[in-house]
Amino acid sequence: AKRQGRGLARLFDESMDEGVRVRRRIETGLSQAIARDELALVYQPIVAHGTFEVVGFEALLRWHTTEYGPISPATFIPIAEESNLIHELGDWVLEHSLDVLKTWPGQYVSVNFSPRQFRRHNFVGYIIERCQRAGVEPSRLQIEITETAIFDDADRAAETLYRLRQMGFRIALDDFGTGYSSLYNIRKFALDALKIDRSFIDGMSRERESAAIVRSIVHLAQSLNLTVIAEGVETAAQVDLLRVAGASHLQGYHFARPLAEAPAREMAHARFVQ
Ligand code: C2E
Ligand code: CA
Ligand code: CA
Ligand code: CA
Repeated sequence: AKRQGRGLARLFDESMDEGVRVRRRIETGLSQAIARDELALVYQPIVAHGTFEVVGFEALLRWHTTEYGPISPATFIPIAEESNLIHELGDWVLEHSLDVLKTWPGQYVSVNFSPRQFRRHNFVGYIIERCQRAGVEPSRLQIEITETAIFDDADRAAETLYRLRQMGFRIALDDFGTGYSSLYNIRKFALDALKIDRSFIDGMSRERESAAIVRSIVHLAQSLNLTVIAEGVETAAQVDLLRVAGASHLQGYHFARPLAEAPAREMAHARFVQ
């Protein structure tokens, strides 16, 4: 039994070592990714419910490594977030998003900012400077942040969001419903949109609870004058339930997967028929 115990302990140690090794490789790879031209952005349409016009695109980062193939942002973003690499990556994302925006007729681009980016010194000044340099109107940039970014230092975050909104930027709270925020404690933040997390949309057609949660989020969001974007819409049945619930905007595979630049631009001129 003792021997087995030691064996298990060693296995555990080894798997921890392996975890550390993978993390290091990712860190090293990421620090070279820009220079090696391994990053790309894809753009997923955000559609207005009812007219099914494309009103904006969410920019999503892709990393194709030569050694290991594609690595998901769900894997590498948290690692970048633990170091200063997130600033370099985030800067690249913002610059390229603003650039491609100029080739679309009028839509906005919705860019994800990690908590660490959002809390950087003079975030507002940084965003303004990048937009001015790119010649992009603030109203064409939607800043997506998560609850984690705003609740650690709520007063400072509220001030930052207020100033961004004053300048004309759109602010969306991402993954809404998965964290500890309620509609009550977000009321003091200057937001434009709530993105209802995919997990609720996924559950809508199966569980009455999910559908009820979505309905109440939409209802209360309307009372706060917030736009509601439903994430991860995959079926026509969900589109229908979301119409009943009153969600004003939709995003998901039912309409389009995240697309490369050229197909995204084509879609900017099209309209989905339901
Ligand atoms: P997120 O911001 O919640 O982005 C939505 C994710 O859901 C994306 O995954 C998107 O491809 C996926 N998705 C969209 N529609 C559907 C659908 O109908 N069904 C399903 N199953 N999935 C759908 P992706 O691109 O793998 O990104 C994962 C996460 O990585 C993002 O979640 C975001 O947190 C982070 N991320 C991606 N790009 C960036 C970036 O440029 N900066 C930062 N800070 N984070 C990023
Ligand atoms: Ca997002
Ligand atoms: Ca999300
Ligand atoms: Ca997410």
